Amino acid sequence: MRKYLKLIYQDPKETFYQELNKCLENNTKKFIITVNPETLMMSESDKELEKIILNKENCLVPDGISIVKACKKIGKYIKERITGIEISEYLLKIANEKGYSLYLFGAKEEVIEQLVIKIKKEYPNITLLGYQNGYVENKEKVMKKIVSMKPDICLIAMGIPMQEKLINKYFKNAKKGIYIGVGGSFDVLSGIKKRAPKLFIKLNLEWLYRIIKEPRRLKRFWNNNIKFLFKIRNKE
Ligand code: UDP
Repeated sequence: MRKYLKLIYQDPKETFYQELNKCLENNTKKFIITVNPETLMMSESDKELEKIILNKENCLVPDGISIVKACKKIGKYIKERITGIEISEYLLKIANEKGYSLYLFGAKEEVIEQLVIKIKKEYPNITLLGYQNGYVENKEKVMKKIVSMKPDICLIAMGIPMQEKLINKYFKNAKKGIYIGVGGSFDVLSGIKKRAPKLFIKLNLEWLYRIIKEPRRLKRFWNNNIKFLFKIRNKE
């Protein structure tokens, strides 16, 4: 785990947001991976994902509180989580202020349609280049098309590791743009699912809220988070 944790972005959220701004202003490109225990547990057995995680050009942000705590154990102090949902909200805000272009790829058709309605209403200055649900058969073809459209921002919401593998395959062809895998964020941003109440977020219990709301997540939680904590404790 250590080799992965060493690569986690360490600066506060504000600094990270400044870097995003710089990237957008200078038309450079960035591939962001929001890291939680599931990402790292998967990387141990999935060579393709591991290669993506270990690629120093990619930016790994600490999405989960266990990642922040595990980093502390190896002497790496991280002030706060930087979550996929918050990055998405920030990017939408800045895109609206500056008129940046956006492509949305992922989630169910009804979710993405709802999100598009919301974006058109609440972020009218965004240039929405297009959108596509995440269940389309030929995802690679869509990804190829997205890259050729040169969006300033591309949010991909399909869950780990599919979203990271898809971005990774085509990112090298991108001339510019922020590409980020945001998991279930479209479900929340569209208003179809609720994010945890502020108190849960403040107490770092967002994971608990998600399990209460969707008990089927418990097995996934056990397989990733609990095993991750054991590994960290045993300094693996
Ligand atoms: N999803 C998708 N295509 C697929 C499988 C999943 O677009 O083939 C979407 C799904 O609809 C959901 C998201 O990917 O919106 C994954 O959400 P989840 O809450 O499982 O991800 P997490 O935030 O836990 O990583």
